Amino acid sequence: MNISFNLNRIKKEIPSNVLLVAVSKTKPSKDILIAYNAGHYHFGENKIQELVKKHNELPKEIKWHMIGHLQRNKVKYIAPFIHLIHSVDSLKLLNEINKQGQKNNRKINVLIQIDISNDLTKFGFSFNEINELFVSSNFEEFEYISVKGFMGMASFTNDKKLIRNQFINLSNLYEKFKKTHSLKFLSMGMSSDYLEAIECNSNIIRLGSNIFGKRS
Ligand SMILES: *Cc1c(COP(=O)(O)O)cnc(C)c1O
Repeated sequence: MNISFNLNRIKKEIPSNVLLVAVSKTKPSKDILIAYNAGHYHFGENKIQELVKKHNELPKEIKWHMIGHLQRNKVKYIAPFIHLIHSVDSLKLLNEINKQGQKNNRKINVLIQIDISNDLTKFGFSFNEINELFVSSNFEEFEYISVKGFMGMASFTNDKKLIRNQFINLSNLYEKFKKTHSLKFLSMGMSSDYLEAIECNSNIIRLGSNIFGKRS
């Protein structure tokens, strides 16, 4: 895999307002350094231990994105430095992030994960839950959290129409609350479906295998 070649090829084909998060999970720090030296600074991980280890050994300019299911008792390890948590899937987790933000005296940027696929294995709020939550709250009680938008993962399928419908549903939700809640980011799209996601309004894509090669 030619990491910097892949990065440049993808960056050329996506609009300039779309942020590319290079998903480096399971890949060694040396692979991240190659991308970093090619001018890429946004990386995504899904396991806290691995994320913290890589943060410790790599340049501090790197902006780390937490994209996997986050356990409440692990928020404290990333609270001092995390750039954006994509995967907030419960109110209890929001409360804990707020608490850790206060301890570190920093506002932590988060996205709310929405379960757009209804696959039983995926995490996230349902559309009903999120409508209730957003109508009843503008999150002012969370002084140390900035809710920046939504994240979703489409079903694992080749059915492009189904994927597109799931993305459109989330895009509609984003448009609905964008103004009232000052949302900025819609994180959808992985290696297999990022072009569809961008067509459906996504402005953060999370790509792993297209950049770093298959994970073993
Ligand atoms: C692993 C992962 C990705 C990247 O997957 P690829 O198919 O390798 O691009 C994106 N988002 C999440 C939440 C992931 O866990």
